[in-house]
Amino acid sequence: MILTLKRKIPLCEIKRIERKIKFYGFKSHISRGAKDITIGVIGENAILLREFFESDRAVHSVAQISKPYKLAGSQIHPSPTVIDVGGAKIGGKHFAIFAGPCAVESRIQIINIAKAVKNAGARFLRGGAFKPRTSPYSFQGLGEEGLRYLAEARDITGLKVVTEVMEISQIETVVKYADILQIGARNMQNFNLLREVGKTNKAVFLKRGMSATISEFLMAAEYVMASGGRKVILCERGIRTFSQETRFTLDISAVCVLKKETHLPVVIDPSHASGCRDFVPPLAFAAAAAGADGVMIEVHTDPQNALSDAAQTIDIPTFTKTVKMLRKLATLAGKTL
Ligand code: PEP
Ligand code: MN
Repeated sequence: MILTLKRKIPLCEIKRIERKIKFYGFKSHISRGAKDITIGVIGENAILLREFFESDRAVHSVAQISKPYKLAGSQIHPSPTVIDVGGAKIGGKHFAIFAGPCAVESRIQIINIAKAVKNAGARFLRGGAFKPRTSPYSFQGLGEEGLRYLAEARDITGLKVVTEVMEISQIETVVKYADILQIGARNMQNFNLLREVGKTNKAVFLKRGMSATISEFLMAAEYVMASGGRKVILCERGIRTFSQETRFTLDISAVCVLKKETHLPVVIDPSHASGCRDFVPPLAFAAAAAGADGVMIEVHTDPQNALSDAAQTIDIPTFTKTVKMLRKLATLAGKTL
């Protein structure tokens, strides 16, 4: 249920309503728009209190939240959420670039790539230390050693670090080093993991499951938010279709649908979506043109010899050119990079 408050009501009245919501066993979520202040009343059967709130002196109107994703949905928060990670922003008018190798391979590899992507214009460094590989015989990542190298690369470049956490037991370690916790496509519906990352105060970079509907994707975000997480970044990274020419099929319309359904920032990953380095720049451009809030791109100083996802990884000159074009497209779409 959403309460739209009367205009110009004093702060003590807002606090009183929040206390009232808590008293009845519900959670409140306040949103300050350009004109109106709204308070979401979250919890099962909140709507039963409708009349009670309708008659409150500070409430202008009451509406039911019709979507199952109450905290992630745009009804509760009509303006776009801007996520601030230590001064680097994602969402609203900010176009964010997350770049780096699929996996951290060595100290020197990640530091060199970090410096190069920073020079090209990225503000976020990606790199897996715990890798969810399709084959158990493939390189599984450097684990905590890789996290240490990522943190060192952050200290040198100032880039913010995003890296995947695959299971609950890794959270404590990953939060020590990362700025943003990535939940991989294969874990999008690992509800216990989602709940636990929501309890940390880190931003969460949530990838869409390869067979997940948009509604399931948003319910995954809802899990993170229901346990306290407020900074969720959604990432479309390709879905399974009958098309076999690319690794997955980039669902570009997910940007439009998500922009309508949610206030959370939406990022596109053209690398995992296509599986092919030649397709990465054009798909990144499509993302910017469609109004995405950023892209996540796999970049390596020596892509041919990358230990994972080599075929979809672009080199530094290609990345630099891609960012130049993205800057223009993001500007046309009303964002700055
Ligand atoms: C990744 O970004 O490193 C990754 C494994 O992606 P996904 O979970 O989308 O497959
Ligand atoms: Mn990868």
